Amino acid sequence: MAILLPGGAGYIGSHTAIELLEAGKEIVIIDNFSNSNPRVLESIKKITGKDFKFYEIDYMHKEKLQKVFEENTIESVINFAGFKAVGESVQKPIEYYRNNISGALVLLDTMRKYGCKKFIFSSSATVYGEPERIPLTEDCKTGGTTNPYGTTKLFIEQILKDIYTSDNTWDICILRYFNPVGAHKSGRIGEEPQGIPNNLMPYIVRVASGQLKELSIFGDDYDTPDGTGVRDYIHVVDLAKGHLKALEKINKEGKGLYIYNLGTGTGYSVLDMVKAFEKTTGKKVNYKIAPRRLGDIATCYADPKKAKEELGWEATKTLEDMCQDSWNYMANQEYLT
Ligand code: NAD
Ligand code: UDP
Repeated sequence: MAILLPGGAGYIGSHTAIELLEAGKEIVIIDNFSNSNPRVLESIKKITGKDFKFYEIDYMHKEKLQKVFEENTIESVINFAGFKAVGESVQKPIEYYRNNISGALVLLDTMRKYGCKKFIFSSSATVYGEPERIPLTEDCKTGGTTNPYGTTKLFIEQILKDIYTSDNTWDICILRYFNPVGAHKSGRIGEEPQGIPNNLMPYIVRVASGQLKELSIFGDDYDTPDGTGVRDYIHVVDLAKGHLKALEKINKEGKGLYIYNLGTGTGYSVLDMVKAFEKTTGKKVNYKIAPRRLGDIATCYADPKKAKEELGWEATKTLEDMCQDSWNYMANQEYLT
């Protein structure tokens, strides 16, 4: 009995694969490497000392996906596959809707065909749009997403609710991630954005290493303590562990559709992040204040109480861990090349 991880070679999927293998689970990864590197698979094996099956396929390819279900006994699926760049999604809406939504539909249809009805989905805090209130609880209103990427998450959540309504023998868990950062403590796997990063932490790391000249802080006139945007940064290893708890929940309770925020419950501003990074790593992060970025909100952080009460999960890593591990990964890459 194996857990299938579409997109398992990516940033969050690879960290989750490690936690699953270390917990003694059998996994099967599928990935087309559209946003990841085959060497990640070797790193997972080195870190865990365990082996697993891998298929280099597009999860939208129905026949190839069916072959995976034919050749393995898949008991549950954690879906990480999809495109995730907000800006790019505005330029390429068709590609985003096709890969994220059509892909998810092919996957869910195939699962149904093989009687596999346990599904965990990587959603995002972006589904809350402009937050109704802070901290965000799972029952806050969703909608008003400002880009096609966010809208794919919203639509897939709705598709999952509709599937559950039509057939309540599914076990579905929607995990709304806040802002994942950091890397595995080994320094062997981490986030590898292609080209110039859009997200804050990868950008900070590249400024600190000298690859990029300076960070542009998008706005210092928000209604926040220091005027810069506030977010809920969560260490990717904490996030990965949340998936194991979600899996335990749907295996134990069964027959339900559950939604959880995975965040720390603490908001940090962009300037807090810059200062924490400098203090932890001793590296200088040059920055300038730039205009606000279109579509950004002032403040977004989770109320993680529901995940604590119902999953027995909470984030344990500190902001220093997030900064240090992000830096170690970058420093290790330089050492390796
Ligand atoms: P990632 O890009 O590192 O990982 C996604 C993986 O899916 C990559 O390895 C990519 O090659 C693969 N993939 C994409 N399309 C595929 C396809 N058609 N067939 C097979 N493989 C395919 O992204 P991540 O940061 O690990 O995110 C994982 C999931 O979590 C995504 O759905 C993302 O939208 C969601 N999420 C991420 C964040 C974040 O900030 N990283 C926040 C909220 C939600
Ligand atoms: N941010 C910034 N400069 C950058 C990237 C991000 O000032 O180069 C800010 C952004 O405006 C937001 C915060 O950092 O307030 C987190 O942005 P990120 O893109 O990482 O996550 P998201 O906006 O999706 O929450």
